[in-house]
Formats: sequence, structure tokens, C-alpha cells
Amino acid sequence: MSTDLDLPKTWFIDIDGVIFPHNGYLNLPEGGFEKPLPGVLNFFKKIPKGDIVILCTARKEIYREITEYSLNKAGINYKVLLMELNTGVRVLINDKKNNEMITAYSINLKRNSGLDENEIKNVIK
Ligand SMILES: [Mg+2]
Repeated sequence: MSTDLDLPKTWFIDIDGVIFPHNGYLNLPEGGFEKPLPGVLNFFKKIPKGDIVILCTARKEIYREITEYSLNKAGINYKVLLMELNTGVRVLINDKKNNEMITAYSINLKRNSGLDENEIKNVIK
């Protein structure tokens, strides 16, 4: 099995417990915004320019404004924000390249542990 880290990627990244503290948006003061977990901003800075980021969350659409406000305040860039997903398991399906190159990965992080680029590099080789 081969992989190619240099190929452009599409990242599907969860928000609660990965980017921001889990469910922190439910207890924000008036006019407040969420602050990213450790390593998140550094991780996003290292995503190559040609890659695409799709953010995923089970948050209801009524929280889109505060979510986008918090993301904007943090300087987190993304292409799409998918909301009202199920709170359960996420599954990604893709076809391998003809040379058997792996084209789908999943990483299960400990809730609110932050984004450690080294942990992700250990999975995507
Ligand atoms: Mg989550």
C-alpha cells in the first residue's frame, strides 16, 4: 500500500471537542465567542493552500452565526460548514487509486485534547 502526502486533500474536521471545547457554545456570554483548543491554530496554519477544509458539526442551524463568528475570530479558514449532522459516528468512503494508494483516513481524538499535528502525521503516512 502506498500513500502520497503531497496530493491535495479534503479535510473533514469536527468542531466540538476538536476545534472548540465540546458544547462550549451553549454557555457563551452575550457577545462572546469560542476560543480554539490547543494546537488548533497551528494545525490550520500548516494545511497547504490547495487543500479544502469542510467543517462538520451536529450543532443546529440556529447556532450557525455564533459558530461562524467564533471561527472568524480565530482566523480559521474553511470552504463549507456542514451543520445538523448526527452526533454519532462519521464514516468516510473513498476508492483507492489504481496503485492501491490509500485515499481515506480517520483519526479519533480524545475530546478537548486539541489538535496535535504529530498525532495526525502518525496516521497519514
Ligand atoms: Mg465532536
